[in-house]
Amino acid sequence: MGKSKRKAKKSPFIIIIFILIIGICGYLSFNNYTKMSKLKNDNNKKKAEYLVLNKKYNELLKSNKDFSNELEKEKDIDQTIDNSKKEVFELAKKAEENIQNGKTNYKIAYLTFDDGPYYLTHEVLNVLKEKQVKATFFTIGAGKESCIDNRSFNCTLLYKKIVDNGHTIANHTYSHAIFAGLYSSVDNFIRDIQKQEDLIYSKTNVKTNIMRFPGGSSTAKSLKNDIIIKLREKGYGWIDWTAQDGDGGALKTRDQAWNIFTKSINDNIEVVLFHDYNYITYSILPDAIKYLEDNNYIILPLFHDSVMVNK
Ligand SMILES: [Zn+2]
Repeated sequence: MGKSKRKAKKSPFIIIIFILIIGICGYLSFNNYTKMSKLKNDNNKKKAEYLVLNKKYNELLKSNKDFSNELEKEKDIDQTIDNSKKEVFELAKKAEENIQNGKTNYKIAYLTFDDGPYYLTHEVLNVLKEKQVKATFFTIGAGKESCIDNRSFNCTLLYKKIVDNGHTIANHTYSHAIFAGLYSSVDNFIRDIQKQEDLIYSKTNVKTNIMRFPGGSSTAKSLKNDIIIKLREKGYGWIDWTAQDGDGGALKTRDQAWNIFTKSINDNIEVVLFHDYNYITYSILPDAIKYLEDNNYIILPLFHDSVMVNK
């Protein structure tokens, strides 16, 4: 009897505990459910944002293709391409802000190619076209009328091809003469920038507004600040880099380049330094693009308003 009394007393207690457990489980799964659907919504939002950006790029690609056939007929063609690019860059600016505010899981990589154009630039452009990727070319002018890697070809013709393929063309000075007077004075440096700006403009009708110091901004040493002031007056922004494959140095193997490259990709917005004369870089380029895309990077061409361009 005593036992069954205790049982009878216990029962309501067990029922209450049971109800409580059911309640807690219910609350937790509801909470999880709302969290899950919020996450799903966020992901959908991010996906939509990414798709809009990609769609804009594809439209730009298509329009460039159509426009290049109409080049002879359309006089305001460059303006039209320019307007499309402006629209894309506004979206890219928004994407940069979202990344910096932690509102998206997507990241941005800016691929940059220095010191060209070279004859090899043809092949680099082909890879970028195939992968539907837009990059930035920091070009120079000295010696480009006869390509170093194919003397019978005039590499200055490639400025226009770079622009027509939708990439950003940028200024890396005319001479790149780091050890032959480029950094001898502020005026000398600015003259060299102007000379390259004029050359690019004469071939493309594009006025450059982003530059990279040959050797990187630290190479300008004590002249750096005064050069930057003058550049700002001329409407230029400048940029170094945050990632690379080491192709500016003595790269020996593809594996070496690949290791340096993958180790250097860490930040939410990366500026990758490549050189379009380097065959090792050319050989890893398709894999490098895949690696970035697999790691959630959107690959974009640089623009003056980018947070990565110093003004
Ligand atoms: Zn350089």
